Amino acid sequence: MKSYRKELYFNLPTRRGFVNITPQVEQALAESGVREGLVLVNAMNITASVFINDDESGLHSDFEKWLERLAPEKPYSQYAHNGYEDNADAHLKRTVMGREVVVAITGGRLDFGTWEQIFYGEFDGKRTKRVLVKIIGE
Ligand code: ZN
Repeated sequence: MKSYRKELYFNLPTRRGFVNITPQVEQALAESGVREGLVLVNAMNITASVFINDDESGLHSDFEKWLERLAPEKPYSQYAHNGYEDNADAHLKRTVMGREVVVAITGGRLDFGTWEQIFYGEFDGKRTKRVLVKIIGE
């Protein structure tokens, strides 16, 4: 069995944002040489997410508004976690949007459902964060 590991780095200029990272995952898959297997993609920071959905700007705007209703950024004082930090909302948003995705690899390609794309979700940006890509198979 082959095994391949790669880290991706993100430093968004805004507090929140979504990035389609499918091309980077496809690049890692090509580097791995795996034709049949699984790829795990996970955020390595507890205020960022990796999730799968549609690359459609209206939907991304809807995610932003929905998450802000669920866990508003402000006032910072509403959260017990805040004090030294001001990112309690980012931890909550990350939990809702998820830590990781697993995608099947078939014939050397990501075996997606219709319109599926992989996204990095940032909820406390303006600093460098990591995403792990782990590929196993043959
Ligand atoms: Zn925190």
